Parts: sequence; structure tokens; C-alpha cells
Amino acid sequence: MTKPSGKLSLLEERIDDAYRMLESCRICPRRCGINRIREETGACVLGRNPVVSSFNLHFGEEPPISGYRGSGTIFFTSCNLRCVFCQNYPISQLRHGREVSVRTLADMMLNLQDKGAHNINFVTPTHLVPQIMDALRIAYERGLEIPLVYNTGGYDSLEVLHLLEGIVDIYMPDMKYSDPEMGLKYSGVPNYPQVNKEAIKEMHRQVGDLVMDDKGIAVKGLLVRHLVLPEGIAGTEEVLKFLAEEVSRDTYVSLMRQYFPAYKAVDMPPLDRRITEEEYKEAVELLEKYGLTRGWIQK
Ligand code: SF4
Repeated sequence: MTKPSGKLSLLEERIDDAYRMLESCRICPRRCGINRIREETGACVLGRNPVVSSFNLHFGEEPPISGYRGSGTIFFTSCNLRCVFCQNYPISQLRHGREVSVRTLADMMLNLQDKGAHNINFVTPTHLVPQIMDALRIAYERGLEIPLVYNTGGYDSLEVLHLLEGIVDIYMPDMKYSDPEMGLKYSGVPNYPQVNKEAIKEMHRQVGDLVMDDKGIAVKGLLVRHLVLPEGIAGTEEVLKFLAEEVSRDTYVSLMRQYFPAYKAVDMPPLDRRITEEEYKEAVELLEKYGLTRGWIQK
């Protein structure tokens, strides 16, 4: 893990480049090309300032992230994806939240550290990376020192991930689909698997496999989340095969079974039902088939 002083230097070197990317926005792979500094908006419908829905200690994340004192989650408003089944849709799609300054965002991080959080967990940060970097610069000047978690839907550009090298300690991306048609139909982007796989490889190159301390709390590395969907929509076998063969058999995989129909999915069969015991069991067997023995299986 890079020391806070090292992270501060990296942020100072890169912050101007990061903000420049907002002038013709290419912060995420949608590359809308509008000027967010002048408050024009693209697909994520946010302008220059960060917008936050909530921040608190969260105990419902994976055990290495929540630990015993909680993860310091900051839920950012809006998203660069349009998942029809989003379980957080009031935040991501209806955009409930309030605009804050980067100074207030830094205060939130320090407040969570003061409350004992194991880490600062940026939830859906992709469309706000320059603003988060700016706030981090302030927070490091004022004593932030706990690890940073980049908790993303996994539709991230390499250019932006390069800006985060040496700054993010733990990458926690989703792998939602392995079929581009599913990504288009259910999340509104044409090339999800291709972008997602490149991003996962880059994240792993930067931080490696998940490393935990002697109490089982994550300090660095990659943790991949995969939500099993009805009727094989998530392409579980190809996702797990990719991780085992092209990333690392020691990848920490959180195989999630909690899917429930939300938002538009309530009227979109087969997404209008939970997964069956059998569907989850098949996914667990695939973990074993590909030798992915590290991770979190839900009983
Ligand atoms: S961050 Fe927002 S405006 Fe920028 S490219 Fe992505 S969706 Fe478009």
C-alpha cells in the first residue's frame, strides 16, 4: 500500500489531467464528449461537482471489506450504467442525492475514519473520479490513512484506471455479463464484456490478488463480484473461466445470490424472479471446476 504522502504526490501530479478529461468528458467508456466543467451533462447527468446519496459505516459488504468495525461507504449518486434490475435504483437511476463540494467530500472521508472504518469505500465512483481525487488530496493533507476501495460496476476506462494507480488499494469491480447482447439489453452499453475484461486485467496488474491482514481485513488487491442472474443471463461460466485463465486462480470471487427483481426488471421476465437454489448451486460448482477456491459463497 502506497503511504499517504506518496499518494498525495501522485494526486498533485495527476489532478489537472483528470479534470481536463471532464472538459470533453471521457471519464468513462461512454465518452459523451460534453463539457462538465461548464455544467453540460451526458449520460450520467452530473456536471462539475460530486453528488452524494449517503455516507455511513456499512456492515453488509464482504467479510474482508466490512470486517468488525464496518466499511466507510460513500454512495455516489447516478451511474454510467443503466441496469434495468439495479438494486440501488433510487440512487443510481432516480439520482437521489445532494451536490457537495470536494471539501465536504473530504470531510466525509475523515469522519468515517474517525468512526473507526477499516477503509473508505467509494460506491459507484466511475463518473466522479476527478472530483474524488481532488477530495482525496484535501483528505490526505488532513490525515487520511486507511485503505481505499474502488467499488464499481466494472465499466471503467483504462485511461482513468491509470490515473488511480498507486492511489486505490482495493479494486472491487462487478463482472455483470459475458455476452455483449446482455450488456446492451440490460445495462444499456454495447461493449460491456470487452471493456470490463480489460479493466479487470488492469486492476489486477496494479494491485494483484487480495491480501488480508492477520484479522482477515483486506489491505490491498482485487475482489471481483459476480451476481448470479436467472436463466444464465450473467454468463457465469465464461466470467469464471476468464478469471481463472486470464487473471489469476487466486482471484477472490464474491459469488452473489441475492438478486431480486427491482426497478424495471419486475416486468421483464426472466428477470422478474429470484434465482433458484439449483442456479446458485451450478454457479458454485463452476467455481470448483475452474479452481477458484478463494472467495465468498453465500449459504
Ligand atoms: S462520466 Fe458521464 S458524461 Fe462522462 S463519459 Fe461517462 S457517462 Fe458520459
